[in-house]
Amino acid sequence: MQESEAFILEKERIMLAKNSNSYDCVVVGAGLAGLMAARNLQRSGQTVLVIEARDRVGGRMHGEQLPSGQWIDRGGQWVGSTQDRFLALLDEYQIRRFPSPSEGKKVFLYDGNRYEFDGFFQGLPEGEPPGVREADWQDAMTAWERFDALTKIFPPGHPQQTEQNQKLDSQTFAQWIAENTQTAFGHWYFSYMARAVGFLGPAEPSQVSLLHVLWGQNCAPQSEHPEAELLHGGAGQIPGKIVAELDHQVRLGEPVLQINHHAAGVEILTAKGQYAAQYVVVSMPPHLAGRIIYHPPLPPLREQLTQRVPMGCCAKILVSYDRPFWREKGLAGIGLGNCEWIELCADSSDPETGVGVIATFVVGDRYRRWQAMHDADRQAAVLSDLANYFGDRALTPASYDEVDWPSDPWAGGGYAAFMPPGVWTSFGEALAAPVGRIYWAGTEMADRWPGFFEGAVRTGEAAAESIRALLQNSPRQETV
Ligand SMILES: Cc1cc2nc3c(=O)[nH]c(=O)nc-3n(C[C@H](O)[C@H](O)[C@H](O)COP(=O)(O)OP(=O)(O)OC[C@H]3O[C@@H](n4cnc5c(N)ncnc54)[C@H](O)[C@@H]3O)c2cc1C
Repeated sequence: MQESEAFILEKERIMLAKNSNSYDCVVVGAGLAGLMAARNLQRSGQTVLVIEARDRVGGRMHGEQLPSGQWIDRGGQWVGSTQDRFLALLDEYQIRRFPSPSEGKKVFLYDGNRYEFDGFFQGLPEGEPPGVREADWQDAMTAWERFDALTKIFPPGHPQQTEQNQKLDSQTFAQWIAENTQTAFGHWYFSYMARAVGFLGPAEPSQVSLLHVLWGQNCAPQSEHPEAELLHGGAGQIPGKIVAELDHQVRLGEPVLQINHHAAGVEILTAKGQYAAQYVVVSMPPHLAGRIIYHPPLPPLREQLTQRVPMGCCAKILVSYDRPFWREKGLAGIGLGNCEWIELCADSSDPETGVGVIATFVVGDRYRRWQAMHDADRQAAVLSDLANYFGDRALTPASYDEVDWPSDPWAGGGYAAFMPPGVWTSFGEALAAPVGRIYWAGTEMADRWPGFFEGAVRTGEAAAESIRALLQNSPRQETV
């Protein structure tokens, strides 16, 4: 039985590769990581094909132009000063940046009370917000010191299977919060962090491993201000610039269904065609990589891993106004607090357009309740919270855009994937390890700035470099 199965597979392999195109490398997934891998391989003289499921490139990097002319980013938008590889890419394509607007008073809404304040307070303590009792603030800050010390224990790289890591990985972040904060404010402060920060999904604290939170804060720290700058024209312009270099070697609307891999090469199967290559880079979040059929099957650790890495739960909402009206009141357009729907919103207006744009998110448990509402009720809920932050003028926007990332089958959520308890220390070693001629890329694979554009660029570059070196050191083989 086994013999005949192997025989059929071998015949299938030979048949499929006949008449198919043959490349040095096929990249599956035209997000930022996949495009970087393909571009770098092509630049080093390799033949490359990119195959993308959607009818557009960019994945979670996705721009749109409003009727006003302003560009908005439906996916990621911010960049920070230590995100070196992404900054190098921006410089290479001469994409100009500007500081995220922050002049004026920020608004803090807590337990129904509204306060305006000057210091900056975004996931990290940078000054005591008004309206918070001294004892509450002290509680959060004492816990913060403990938390911060724990984040320092990690060497570079992914978390390893040490005794200490196993202990941290056996707990949720919620357990740590319960043990380390005494006040409702302290509890909210750390829970808000889990919902607001990029590498954490966003996730509710009860869903995410303590080890993942601590390690993520080590390799993608909020103290390095990953939201410091925005891009003129938006991040969504970048995929098109990379694709322009790829000699039309991008196939859209073609989900990859199966990858056959063997000692001599790989075959990639879609509903529309079959492609042969020396190597394949699968560049997407782990759960989507796990939906592809592999022949022969992947090692059991990898199979188990991809069953356990969920995407964060978030909708991004972009609300535009004819002008940034909040500035007329001396407000920065930055709000945070324990509101019913919106815990964080930020002025994302490009100063060169004059249009006002607020970017905001509905995440975690709030998202689950919100997405079940009717369209008009969802919009009313978001605008009502914005009005609490910035006044009733917020109720009459020029445009309102919702991006429901968990409903997108080619993302399954956003901002990124996160690790529940036990995953890093039981299956983490399979996250980035190549399997024969299959290499993995995507922001989730990064060990610096995972969950951010920077992580995507780094993993795309690394996959391209590994494959380039292999191709350079071994003579080109016939793939059939
Ligand atoms: C709402 C939101 C806000 C964010 N904010 C920021 C931010 O401000 N700053 C920041 O740095 N990062 C931010 N991020 C994260 C950032 O967008 C991602 O880290 C990055 O874009 C991921 O790129 P990627 O190439 O790893 O994955 P993706 O962009 O997800 O690319 C994977 C690609 O694979 C394709 N694919 C999947 N399955 C198949 C298949 N079977 N066959 C073919 N193709 C397939 C998908 O369609 C997709 O195009 C945000 C993300 C979201 C969603």
